Amino acid sequence: MLLVNNVVIYGVSMTTAEHVLSGTPVVPGVAAGPVLHVRGEVSPDAIARYGDGDFADAEAALAAYDDAAAAVAETFSTKAAAAQGAAAEVLTASAGLARDKGLRSGVAKKLQAGQGPVAAVQGAVEQFVTIFTNMGGLMAERVTDLRDIERRVVAHLVGEPAPGVPTPTEPSILVAEDLAPSDTSGLDPELVTALVTERGGATSHTAIIARQLGIPCVVGAAGVMELASGTFVVVDGETGSIEQGADPEEARARVEESRRLREELAHWSGPAATADGLPVKLLANVADGPSSASAGTEPVQGVGLFRTELCFLNRKDEPSVEEQTDIYASVLSPYSDGRYVVVRTLDAGSDKPIAFATQEGEENPALGVRGLRLSFGNPGLMDRQLDAVAAAAERTGTETWVMAPMVATVAEAADFAAKVHARGLKAGVMVEIPSAALLAHRMLEVVDFLSIGTNDLTQYAMAADRMATDLAHLTDPWQPAVLQLIAITAHAGTEAGKPVGVCGEAAADPLLATALIGMGISSLSMAARAVRPVGAQLGRVTLETCEAAAEAALGAADPMAGRAAVRELLGH
Ligand code: PEP
Ligand code: MG
Repeated sequence: MLLVNNVVIYGVSMTTAEHVLSGTPVVPGVAAGPVLHVRGEVSPDAIARYGDGDFADAEAALAAYDDAAAAVAETFSTKAAAAQGAAAEVLTASAGLARDKGLRSGVAKKLQAGQGPVAAVQGAVEQFVTIFTNMGGLMAERVTDLRDIERRVVAHLVGEPAPGVPTPTEPSILVAEDLAPSDTSGLDPELVTALVTERGGATSHTAIIARQLGIPCVVGAAGVMELASGTFVVVDGETGSIEQGADPEEARARVEESRRLREELAHWSGPAATADGLPVKLLANVADGPSSASAGTEPVQGVGLFRTELCFLNRKDEPSVEEQTDIYASVLSPYSDGRYVVVRTLDAGSDKPIAFATQEGEENPALGVRGLRLSFGNPGLMDRQLDAVAAAAERTGTETWVMAPMVATVAEAADFAAKVHARGLKAGVMVEIPSAALLAHRMLEVVDFLSIGTNDLTQYAMAADRMATDLAHLTDPWQPAVLQLIAITAHAGTEAGKPVGVCGEAAADPLLATALIGMGISSLSMAARAVRPVGAQLGRVTLETCEAAAEAALGAADPMAGRAAVRELLGH
């Protein structure tokens, strides 16, 4: 129906696409519809018309700011009440930021100094942006939220509609430079059928939300903001293409086929194996007790990555061994039915600052004292955590493996393994630093298993910050150099007869999963939501095809060529 409408509205009748833009495909699926732009900025004309707002004095102007800030905070609180989990937390935090007393007093000072309300808000927000940016890590990420608050308060002051996602009147493709959490929470996947952004990488907020909504997503698509609102496009979340001028009938058939495939995937129930019977372990990435319990109901054979630091993001002091034991037991207990859980010791530092562990004032935190390195100056932190993990394993009876993040040398791996083995648990290390991949065979002489963290391995192999929205083409695990490091590690596992898994975002990509299995990877751990598509894809291919996919991806000139070669092999 939508496409029939589009024939009438746009008069599109070509059988092949006229113009094709492309970006990094992050959530597979095909969608078609008119472009709907996210309103980014408040209109400069409206701001000019408003001027200084004509207030009698600074107090009256501050009262207008208070009204605007309260209305903005209220919008966030209402959205938070309708959202769940991490989205609700982010929105509640944004509501708090809009009501922040420090921000208000910054605005008041500027009003007293004679500035108009719009300039006062912009100036005060600017000061906070500088402070947050200098703090780095998660605080720096809040800059997007601050800017969002600034735009909303200014829009309210000058009497414009709030910036953000306009309510679609028909199923549409949402196109934005980048998306803030407040833009994406509460999106209706019936009306927003795909997300496309000009910036952002495979691990960006946009990608995570699209995966949760189950709609196709392409990020890092240069030029997409130049498409006029209402332009009919076909988005392919597997190839990364955004086509204009496609034949509507063909587009409708592609959308239908993609929908049918996605429905089929939803019924996949495991256990995972290739079409010729090679079993593959599919595992979940979890953050705490609730996410572990809900992942446990999916067709997974356990947890491949429990990110323990995520339990302590808001803690000022280190929790006692007893408290840690209770938390870890809540994560382990859903798997006491014969499945297993891989616990990762604290990966504090860099993008995950933890008040009681993170090293302060580092010039370059991603290359600094993070992960296992924190135990160099504070061995007690690691010892107490391992005691708690061992106690939780004992209490629940769940098979528990423990691994360390950010391991660079064989000596580090050996020291860590000795501590874990002394507590009667299986020991492994993450392969996130190229040195660990290159020496995987020697690492495996001292540990029981390896788990490849492709998010960091890509960051360190390509020297490209995983948070940098402009480097999506480099922070792509399909980069042949990254795949080489994975292949070296997988080969070492096959030779040693020990498990080597992948637990970064790469494991959630059904196409790449085939190549990883072809390299000899024995388990894939991912967000629970991604398990069914990956399991279903693996069930459709033989080991031989997986091996051919590995060869094609490794030999490709670049990530897009790798994707195209594997797609062709799989007949997509
Ligand atoms: C990784 O680096 O791929 C990984 C799984 O760890 P995190 O994303 O938590 O850094
Ligand atoms: Mg990592």
